[in-house]
Amino acid sequence: MLRAMLALSLVATLPPSLLAQVTRAPNEMGRIPVLEYHLIGERESRWSRNWQRFARDLELLHERGYRPITVRQLVRGEIDLPAGLSPVVITFDDASPGQFRYLEEHGRLRVDPTSAVGIWDAFAARHPEWKGRAVFCVLTAADEGHALFGERGIQGQRSAWRLPKVRYLIEQGHEVCNHTLWHANLAQMSSAVVREQIARAQLAVDSAVPGYAPRTFALPLGQWPADRDLLKSGSWTDPRSGRVVQYEIDAILMVAGGPARSPKDPAFDPLRIPRVQVFGDELERLLDRLDREGVRYVSAGTRIGR
Ligand SMILES: [Zn+2]
Repeated sequence: MLRAMLALSLVATLPPSLLAQVTRAPNEMGRIPVLEYHLIGERESRWSRNWQRFARDLELLHERGYRPITVRQLVRGEIDLPAGLSPVVITFDDASPGQFRYLEEHGRLRVDPTSAVGIWDAFAARHPEWKGRAVFCVLTAADEGHALFGERGIQGQRSAWRLPKVRYLIEQGHEVCNHTLWHANLAQMSSAVVREQIARAQLAVDSAVPGYAPRTFALPLGQWPADRDLLKSGSWTDPRSGRVVQYEIDAILMVAGGPARSPKDPAFDPLRIPRVQVFGDELERLLDRLDREGVRYVSAGTRIGR
């Protein structure tokens, strides 16, 4: 009785966001938003998120009881959240400088606090559960700076910073995902070129962090190759060195399709993971809809304390 009263009075003093967390019923068959960002910068448009709005997106997600997991965690079902909280996957496509920009000041580099990585790092400093939990689907050799976050002076970015940036992301714990060399339309390519696109992008990541091979693939333009099995695994031989590069993909991200199914749902297909593009007020609308329809994944917290 006394304990119940104490518990009640404790609940009454909780801030609203925490109160929602302790009262939210578990639903591990619910939907999981896999968010998709492209450009991060000043502009706000279909393909670009204003950086201040991006910072507010992280606040909003946190406030509404969401915590990030990577695609790797999603497909393995490793959703390690306390009871009452919900997973969100946050993906960045195309490796533009606005996602990860360095500033050079007096010969020293620091992460631009208005780039996505700068905003993420500042947020993770206040909320440690956000550290290293983003997913970067990189192009490694596209033009206009879309090659491992900028090169050749575009937005002040040096080509020599590309591999250190990839290394930084992986050291922080983020997931690097393969998005081909230059956003290839795989529907129009031969099997050999599809394999080359995937393998050479992997090779570029490998040259930043030897042995790191992306297991997640983001489908450029949402276009499937004629033979979808090519995406799952394959190999390519570098004609110059004779080196054989092998790849294995166990998660494929699509460009749209709404919130994803839970990995506990028998209909979950890791090779067709839908995403939600974030622009305008899409994020708020999505979170509202998941709550209104009662279809939001809510952790039961069963993995905690293992
Ligand atoms: Zn893309």
